[in-house]
This record gives sequence, structure tokens and C-alpha cells, in this order.
Amino acid sequence: MLKNKNIKISVLGLGKSGIACANLAASKGFSVFASDNGKKRTHLQMKLNKKVSVEFGGHTTKVLDGDIIIKSPGLPRELDILKQAAKRAIPVFSELDFALNFAKPKKVIAVTGTNGKTTTTTLIYEIIKKAYKNTFVAGNIGFAISDVVKKLNSKSILVLELSSYQLEDSPQFRPDISVSMNITPDHLKHHHTMANYVKAKANIFVNQKNKDYAIYNYNDKYLKKNIAKTNAKIFEFNNDKTRNGIFYKDGTIYIKKTGKTVAELSPKINIVGKHNIDNILAATAAAYLSGVKTKTIEKVISAFKGVEHRIEYVKEVKGVKYYNDSKATNVDSTKVALESFDKNIQLILGGQDKGSPYKPIFNLIKKKVKNIFLIGEAANIIKKELKNSAPMIECKTLSNAVKKICSVAEQGDIVLFSPACASFDQFNDFEHRGREFKKQVEIIS
Ligand code: ADP
Repeated sequence: MLKNKNIKISVLGLGKSGIACANLAASKGFSVFASDNGKKRTHLQMKLNKKVSVEFGGHTTKVLDGDIIIKSPGLPRELDILKQAAKRAIPVFSELDFALNFAKPKKVIAVTGTNGKTTTTTLIYEIIKKAYKNTFVAGNIGFAISDVVKKLNSKSILVLELSSYQLEDSPQFRPDISVSMNITPDHLKHHHTMANYVKAKANIFVNQKNKDYAIYNYNDKYLKKNIAKTNAKIFEFNNDKTRNGIFYKDGTIYIKKTGKTVAELSPKINIVGKHNIDNILAATAAAYLSGVKTKTIEKVISAFKGVEHRIEYVKEVKGVKYYNDSKATNVDSTKVALESFDKNIQLILGGQDKGSPYKPIFNLIKKKVKNIFLIGEAANIIKKELKNSAPMIECKTLSNAVKKICSVAEQGDIVLFSPACASFDQFNDFEHRGREFKKQVEIIS
């Protein structure tokens, strides 16, 4: 269909990916109409190709003049305009499926999962680019796929981080290597049921053929149940009885193929937590199956310090180690962070409450946390729900919390800023919040 330049393309949603996608379509000579329900912006403000016609403040029936619709990730499927499009049998695609029509890279490696996507994608990218210069990263990680597609040629390797939103409308997507980290209930407001969420995630491997690889977490019950839907060669991580896969035991990573150990790696691991072993295993598998030498993989893992704001080591002052985990915007993530340390934690919690219970971290706090330092709007709710778990000190602001911690922390303590809340009560976003924490820590002496 896209061979015919006379077809009209409607783009729904003008966020980062919508703008990039409309620009790509316009640059390929299609007539493009874009529709956004937000406030009016100029083409210049959006860096949008002047040839794209636009409407704001809602989606009118002009959208239905398109021969195909490209829906931005995250827009609900229940939009009235999409129901009307379905009645007229207008096909709806994601930016992912659309953009990949215009590039034929040598290899596409795609990563999904409820958690661990950015860390694993980053590590895969870091390893592969050491071996192949022509490597690119895109997707949920912050670079629109439509922008990156322009840079690809037949020698390129494209590493993609994909959310369920990007995958749900991607019925054609077929990566050479898929990586599925885990699936836990999330985004259910959007997907409605767990079955829909799992189906969206499974789009990463359902079209794969037998020369492709599907790497997946053997410990994940949803993935285990659904992985048979792929025709790709299955490569599991976390099963030490595997015939084809990768696992970690006593400081060594083992890779097996048809029952035989084909590689052993012993990198120095600088990032904390069991969850990060999963991320390292998945990334090592993707790199190994792409032909990267084990020595190169080992070197890059040994130098990898993790991704900013994800249990990021900041510094040590007088025997106290400080970690920034500002990305922990929910209780599940804080749980993962607490599981990553043994004891003596000074924990900073709080921010904007998200309505989920804090009880799931009660026992971990009781066992490992010396004091809780509370910040932001959620302080009262947390006080109530975590009463008797550990002593609590109300600090209101992050800078106060760091100051108070300095006066109580002792040698051997871990200061963990893993707030379990959104950041919007006092900060622009979790990145802003994390940078502020690091600024406060940097001035401690
Ligand atoms: P994502 O991109 O999927 O949000 P990140 O790599 O950015 O994942 O990590 C975000 C948070 O998710 C981390 O701070 C940690 O709490 C948790 N996490 C990371 N990797 C995993 C994993 N493999 N399994 C479970 N939780 C993880």
C-alpha cells in the first residue's frame, strides 16, 4: 500500500513520535493530515514539516479522509474517531510498523517488558556499538523511530525499546531478535485486561520466523505460557537446566546451545540487585546471538554503571553510600530497590501519591530500614500505612531530608532515595527530582 504515493495518511497525536512520523511521511511524498486534541501550536514550535496539515483541540472527521491512520502510542483505542475508522475499515498502524517500512537494517533487536526495558536496551546498545559502528537506538528510550529510520542502511543494527503501547498496533513487526524481560500487571487502565496487555507484549515475538531468536525470562509465568506462540528459536534466561539459553551462577554467566556450554563470562558487575542480573543476562544473550565476541561483552558489562536515576550510585561520604533511584515512581520499583540491599538503609520516601497501597514494602522496611525520611504530599498517607515499620522523620523537602540524613547516618549505611511516588508535587519529572537529589548529595563533605 505504501508504494502508492497518492495515498493519504492521517496521524493521530502530535507528541514526539507523532511529529517524527508525520515528518517522515511528508518527506516520503505522502499527503499528511495530523490531528491532536491538545492546544494549538505552530509548525515551527513542533518542528513539523510545513506540508503537514494540522488540526488541534480534538479529532474531526477529516481524519477519516486518510487511507491509513497512524496512532500515537498511548492514545486509547476507544477514541470515537477510531471507532468510526473501524466502521470504514481504515487500517490503523503504530509508528513502529509504519516507520520500519522505510528502512531495511541488517538487524533489528527489540526489547520489551514491564520493567528493565531501558537498562537492558542501553546495555545491548553499549555492547553492540563496540562491535559494530553502525548501531542505533530508538523507541521508548527517547528517540523517535521515524527520526532514526532516516539514518539506517543495510549494514545498520537497530536496537529498539518498545512499550506495550507501541506494540499493540504493530501487527507486522518482526525483529531478528526479541527480548522479553517480564510481564506484571501494569497499564491496565489502557489495556483493560491482563489478557490484552499480554497480547500486546507478545506482538514482539508472534511474527518471528525460525531464523530469528526470541530471548525470554524463564521465571515469568505469563511469558512462559505465551512464548510457544513464536516460530523463532527460543533462548531462555534464568534456567540453569536450559538446553538453549543463558544463566548466572556463582559469579559466572553460562551460555548453552543444544545442551552444550558454548561460552562462559565473568564480568565485574557494578550494578546492584537481582533484577539487574536479569538485565545483564538478557543483554548478553542479545549481543552473543548477534555475533559479538564474549571478551567485548565482558568488557562493556564491567564498565557499565547503570542508567541514571535507577539505583544509581552517587557517592560515598564517611563510609555512607548514597543511591539515587528517582525512577522508582511506584511501590513495586521501591520494593525492587529494597531487595537490592541487605540492611542499614536510610530511606527517603514520598512525593505525589498514586493511590496504590504502600503495604507491600512494609516487611522489607521492617527488616532492612533504619529510618524513613518523608517528603512531599504523600507523607501523611505513608505515615498511616507504614506505621510501626521503622521510625519516620517528616522532612517536607528533599534538601531537608538529605540534611537530616547527614546528621544521623553512620558508617556502613546505605542512603536510598527511592520515593515510591510520582514527582509532580515538587518537581517537573523524575529526572529533575533525581538531579536535585544528586546536587544535594554532591555538596555533602
Ligand atoms: P523500564 O524502562 O522498563 O521502566 P528501567 O530499566 O528504566 O525499566 O528500570 C526502572 C525500574 O524498574 C528500576 O529502577 C527497578 O526498580 C525496576 N527494574 C529494572 N529492571 C528490572 C527487572 N529486570 N525486573 C524487575 N524490575 C526491574
